[in-house]
Amino acid sequence: MSTRNIPASLRQQIIDRANGQCEYCRLPDSIAFYPPEIDHIIARKHGGQTTLDNLARICWRCNHHKGTDIATFDPQTNDLTRLFNPRTDNWHEHFHLSDSELISDTPIGRATIFLLKLNRPDRVAERALLIEAGTYL
Ligand SMILES: [Zn+2]
Repeated sequence: MSTRNIPASLRQQIIDRANGQCEYCRLPDSIAFYPPEIDHIIARKHGGQTTLDNLARICWRCNHHKGTDIATFDPQTNDLTRLFNPRTDNWHEHFHLSDSELISDTPIGRATIFLLKLNRPDRVAERALLIEAGTYL
């Protein structure tokens, strides 16, 4: 999923739009170990275009787990479910905090939490520190 060919001006628009955080897990760039990456929400191999409405700012961990996937199985129902789309879905409708874990009442939220491993123990611990410092969400 190379994004090397994204023009610098388009890349800057994506970064500016995202308010300094991953559009999936909301990790602030300021504490991320690696610089933010650009995600094709619908990967090019599935017909996704390199346009503002199909690109998102993503942290390297979310990008590593998402790859070119666009769907997975909802762990609660086992139904094939598309992933969260930062351009068309409202983050707060699909994710909320329970202590420092992200939980969801929607199939899209549950599928995304599962595939992107948003509640891996290290990520939950990191989120707890961010919440304590007042720098999460
Ligand atoms: Zn992320």
